Amino acid sequence: MTDTNDALFSRARAVIPGGVDSPVRAYGSVGGTPRFLVEAAGAYVTDAEGRRYVDLVASWGPALLGHAHPEVVAAVQAAAARGLSFGAPTPAEAELVEEIVRRVPAVQKARLVSTGTEATMTAIRLARGATGRDLLVKFAGHYHGHSDGLLAAAGSGLATFALPGSAGVPEAVAAQTLVVPYNDRAALEEVFAAHSGRIAAVITEAAAANMGVVAPASGFSTFVAELCRREGALLISDEVLTGFRAAPGGYAQVLADAGETVVPDLVTFGKVIGGGLPVAAVGGRADVMDMLAPLGPVYQAGTLSGNPVAVAAGLATLRLADASAYARLAAAADAVADAATAALTAAGVPHVLQRAGTLFSVFFGAEVVGGVSDYATAQRQDTAAYGRFFHAMLDAGVSLPPSAFEAWFLTAAHDDAAVAQIVDALPAAARAAASA
Ligand code: PMP
Repeated sequence: MTDTNDALFSRARAVIPGGVDSPVRAYGSVGGTPRFLVEAAGAYVTDAEGRRYVDLVASWGPALLGHAHPEVVAAVQAAAARGLSFGAPTPAEAELVEEIVRRVPAVQKARLVSTGTEATMTAIRLARGATGRDLLVKFAGHYHGHSDGLLAAAGSGLATFALPGSAGVPEAVAAQTLVVPYNDRAALEEVFAAHSGRIAAVITEAAAANMGVVAPASGFSTFVAELCRREGALLISDEVLTGFRAAPGGYAQVLADAGETVVPDLVTFGKVIGGGLPVAAVGGRADVMDMLAPLGPVYQAGTLSGNPVAVAAGLATLRLADASAYARLAAAADAVADAATAALTAAGVPHVLQRAGTLFSVFFGAEVVGGVSDYATAQRQDTAAYGRFFHAMLDAGVSLPPSAFEAWFLTAAHDDAAVAQIVDALPAAARAAASA
């Protein structure tokens, strides 16, 4: 007898707040019982009731190659057999950072941490240490992890649950973060004018993907970089989600390919660079990175930082993420995006599909069909229509992100059969979305 998802959820809720270890997993905005997963391979996940789904969550990004890629699993098993954690430097850490440096021109040095939250926390501390200034500018709807200073208008789970921010953040800390609308040049200029000489850094998702996918308007990233330079503030580009997913060189490469070369001072990574295990990184200009202890006065540390098993997963993933893997990812993303557009259009569902490299998401509702370039507009999407669509897809064996504010994550393992299952499920789901 296996436990049902309902039984597992009840049991979990008795001892874990909301039954989950990260809020969006609870299906709060789409309703229903979260699927408790017991296995995943390639493009598929299997729940505790033995039901198999084509997965469009990909662990929220890390599973670039698909789940449990045999060579990644073998690398992890080999590393685990040599020891789980040493608390000492290991040879593979530099190899992983070399892979990052090779892919991203702005990164001369990087340090490995365990989560994207740590990476952005450290980037901000470095920026403050380097500039001797306190204030931080972030964009509304951008998510940079759950540290105190970054939860204002933060997208992701806060958008899903319509929260303005988090309780428990001291006012004095929140006051250090200035939030401006994304893609709004005048607002950014105004905030610099109002706080002249006091802004340490602007942090931005390289392309926003935690309020749905909202790419920077053409020229906006360059504008932000130039303004930062002129004002003596550092630019932190958060590529935790876009890094090595939107393109082999992250969103910086998408921009460069479009003729816009942006060189941030600091860049954060996570998700894909751990291939499913906890690895993240903060990197950038060598002179700024060398301000970290033990060389410099900015402190940062981690018992499990650069963990050998996690690094083995990340290194194997990045080495397998070659041009053909990205081509397969792009082909799958194109096929699903085109089919979603066709199905929603045929069913008369007002929507807009937005892309950033191979990343995309779909916004539902008449309020957003003109396109979404900021958080205020993203919040006007029809989340109820998405909920109906989500459940129809789930019933047809396709697992979408349980929130309208997330990207649809394809992988290089989404082959013709997996894509066909998604494509076949779309028309009925589109009709469900249409039926208010
Ligand atoms: N930055 C971005 C852009 C993210 O998408 C995320 C996670 N979704 C984070 C930071 C935080 O990473 P983590 O969940 O690993 O702390």
